[in-house]
Amino acid sequence: MMDEVKRLEDHARRCLRMQLFDPGCDAMREAQELWNPALGVAKPAFSSDELRQIEVGKVQTLENLARLFLRNQFFDAAQNAMERAQVHWSIGIGIPRPGFSTNEQSRIQTPSFGEGLKSRKALDRLERRVVISMDNCAICIDIMAPGQMEVLGECGHRFHESCICEWLMQRNACPLCRNPWLQDLA
Ligand SMILES: [Zn+2]
Ligand SMILES: [Zn+2]
Repeated sequence: MMDEVKRLEDHARRCLRMQLFDPGCDAMREAQELWNPALGVAKPAFSSDELRQIEVGKVQTLENLARLFLRNQFFDAAQNAMERAQVHWSIGIGIPRPGFSTNEQSRIQTPSFGEGLKSRKALDRLERRVVISMDNCAICIDIMAPGQMEVLGECGHRFHESCICEWLMQRNACPLCRNPWLQDLA
């Protein structure tokens, strides 16, 4: 029992170092549920520094992604990611409120839709596979966990199957590197 608590606690910290915040929090919660005072060790928990690191990490991940989308000229996705960064931010976490600079803002143009796939049929040709190693999906920022379905692009980037399908219907290019993704069938 004690070994399992320790294993989960170590796993939680390892997740944190890999910026896998949600799985880290899940593992710590599991460790706490398994723990009881009779074990004679301190209750497992993230320190306040680690908790702050999680909050800051989530905001920074979204903010970095927003800038990457801006560079790739996915303007709507850039704004969306920045808005999500702002929702996660609070004054207490000790970093400036995320936002585009005036210069960046001026590069944002009306989203140009129409570069997406015209036919959902093209999606049938995506190479789907089961996720084998944990990673973050850059479209939704959530975890890709073993057992879920993912799609691997020719560029080597991978995303949740459902996330990339919706994305391609709006813009037929890799969110991270702009590589064209699928030939349209329409
Ligand atoms: Zn996703
Ligand atoms: Zn890519």
